[in-house]
Amino acid sequence: MMKIICILLVVAFLAITNAFQSTSSVNRGRHSSISMIHPKRLPFIAGNWKMNTDLKSAIALATEVSELTKTCDPKKVEIAVCPPFPFLGQVGDIVSNSPSQIKLGAQNCFYELKGAYTGAVSAPMLKSVGCQYSLIGHSERRKIFSETDGAINHVVERVQEAGIIPILCIGETKEEYELGLNEEICTLQLCKDLKGLTPEQVSKIVIAYEPVWAIGTGLSATPEIAQSVHFAIRKWLRRIYGDDVAEMVRIQYGGSVTPETVDELMRCPDIDGALVGGASLVAKSFARIAMFNR
Ligand code: PEP
Repeated sequence: MMKIICILLVVAFLAITNAFQSTSSVNRGRHSSISMIHPKRLPFIAGNWKMNTDLKSAIALATEVSELTKTCDPKKVEIAVCPPFPFLGQVGDIVSNSPSQIKLGAQNCFYELKGAYTGAVSAPMLKSVGCQYSLIGHSERRKIFSETDGAINHVVERVQEAGIIPILCIGETKEEYELGLNEEICTLQLCKDLKGLTPEQVSKIVIAYEPVWAIGTGLSATPEIAQSVHFAIRKWLRRIYGDDVAEMVRIQYGGSVTPETVDELMRCPDIDGALVGGASLVAKSFARIAMFNR
């Protein structure tokens, strides 16, 4: 009981603090020239290969995905693959010639531009090997590598400066879900991760809602749960950044998406795509997900 009260108090405190910070960022952006239309959000299916494949199997997977998705119309669905760093170049060469115009994404990025940061990879480096997207704030990065919202906020800015589109991953843990705090946790993460960004900058990001309890567990959120969180995220975007931004931002669902679950998820009005882990390592499964039926 005590634990629940503590979590609720922290959530309430952070919500007040961060709502204020986010409003300030909107005010800073108010004078920037924003000319936004309401394009229909292009569905976006991205594969996160995580720390899997070697060079040979990465090339084989990219080649097979490219072949199996050749009938996908890039005007109807956008597809991306995010291989491990060492294979970005070769995988990029393959997908850049794919009939469905598959995009290249990185799985992570560091916020400094260059220097003595052993093992880190910067946004300009990613850009130089052809990355158009980068995952940021994946729950595995947050948990295993202790990446904080403050660092994630820096990376979002750096990646955008380099001309790469961030796929910002957010989502609640199992415990938070069981306490019914999924919407609060997601909007709190957004408050912190998007701090200081103008509405124009926010309009260009992709958000991936990935409940931590559903990642790699086979436990997908039901379409009803996923839709309700996506709706809440869009409502928050509308409140903080306005209607145009809320209508433009694509929100992917991630968490054990499979060929069997994708169609129903994609029928939800606020689900604009999927971030796929395990199933993206099997070309046939990933291609079927990219060919979802709405
Ligand atoms: C992920 O890691 O982003 C993910 C969604 O993984 P999985 O599809 O395996 O749950």
